[in-house]
Amino acid sequence: MGSHSATGTRRTCQLQGCNSFASRNGFCLRHVWKLSVEELEPLNAKQYQVAKELVSTERSYCDSLRVIYKSFVLRLQVQSEMEGGSAGGGRALLDPADMGRVFHNVEDIFKLSEQLSADLEEITLEKVLTTAVGSTLLHYAPLFRIYQSYLENYDDAVRVLTQLRKDKPDFDFFCKLQEKCEGLSLESFLIMPVQRLPRYLLLLGELIKRSQEASSSSASLDGSDGSGGLQGAALADMIAARDRISAIATAINASLHQKENQLKVAAIQACFERDARYQDLVTPTRYLIREGPLKKRYGKGTRHLTGSTVYHFFLFSDILVYADASKNVLGKGVTYRLKHILPLAEMTVEPTSSARTGKDKDLLVTTRNPAGSKETKDDKSSSKEKAFELGCADTAERDAWLLAFRQAIGQLQEDQRNLRSATFDGSNVAQGDGKGTIKSSKLKQMMGV
Ligand SMILES: [Zn+2]
Repeated sequence: MGSHSATGTRRTCQLQGCNSFASRNGFCLRHVWKLSVEELEPLNAKQYQVAKELVSTERSYCDSLRVIYKSFVLRLQVQSEMEGGSAGGGRALLDPADMGRVFHNVEDIFKLSEQLSADLEEITLEKVLTTAVGSTLLHYAPLFRIYQSYLENYDDAVRVLTQLRKDKPDFDFFCKLQEKCEGLSLESFLIMPVQRLPRYLLLLGELIKRSQEASSSSASLDGSDGSGGLQGAALADMIAARDRISAIATAINASLHQKENQLKVAAIQACFERDARYQDLVTPTRYLIREGPLKKRYGKGTRHLTGSTVYHFFLFSDILVYADASKNVLGKGVTYRLKHILPLAEMTVEPTSSARTGKDKDLLVTTRNPAGSKETKDDKSSSKEKAFELGCADTAERDAWLLAFRQAIGQLQEDQRNLRSATFDGSNVAQGDGKGTIKSSKLKQMMGV
């Protein structure tokens, strides 16, 4: 109401003992429902049913997290301490480093769920479930960022656990004993946090739909009886919570994707000889699009004499790399010696003129080296523009490479345009699409949606 005071320091929640910042009417989002004295009945049975499902699934999710924490983490810790820690002659079933690799931050996730579950039970008991569920989840939404680290570690955790159960029979026996008591495998428990964020989005989406249906058929929509306004605020909170959680899920999704790509690039890089030309290939955003052997020929009009060599080509999202491939001494695997790295930004790729008339199956690559690009020894006298031909085995292979090149160059140009426009309007960069869609097929598979 036009107050200009208290802008310098943020006040904390009015509720005694709560240290959260007050964000609405002197209360934090978690406790703002305590302001409304009247008990609100849900608008209809369906809306209430979905809200109750959120409460009951959080309770059983929390119970499962408690199993991971108490039946596995705590018991393993106690056992390790009783055996004198990791220095105690190796009698610990699992040393602290492996504990961290398998269970990661599951304790934090358990404690978060325990608190959320208690809050949801409380608003159910106080009969303000449908009014307060939105603001409650909105309060927790930013805290769900702790899932990022769990999800990033998840693949590794599963791999390590499988190996440990093979290598350490005592640890495996301990797991089997706990699993017998709890009725589920440790692996089944560990995947639950991976599935939880999509579940929130699903249930919130359903709850929003039911609430919209309910309020459009309700006479109190205009707020004339006092409850319509409250229902409208509750719906706005649900939508805000859904969008916030969706943005976090999208960001986690992007980071998982990026990590996966980096691992692939790093695996390729590990096959390169560390000679004078060796360069670091891993960047935060680079990913592999296509690779394979191709015949490299210099085009007409360059200083090079006609001749061709077979190299192994790697088309990454922003560069084309080619290398000499040689079988390892033992005949296992391949080692590459880097020949050249060409940036895609200044590159055009098209079928050669004779290929266009159907006579052959080659590609013509034209590249202008932008200032500052690294030149290797062969190219000291290189002209600004150069061209070479790539000989493919057949037209199918040529078309596959052509498509890959066009997509990569097109995507790169689009990214650069987006980057330029983002410097003027950064608002839509980190927000995700806000609709709760999970795009990564891998994540979809992991989360079981
Ligand atoms: Zn509070």
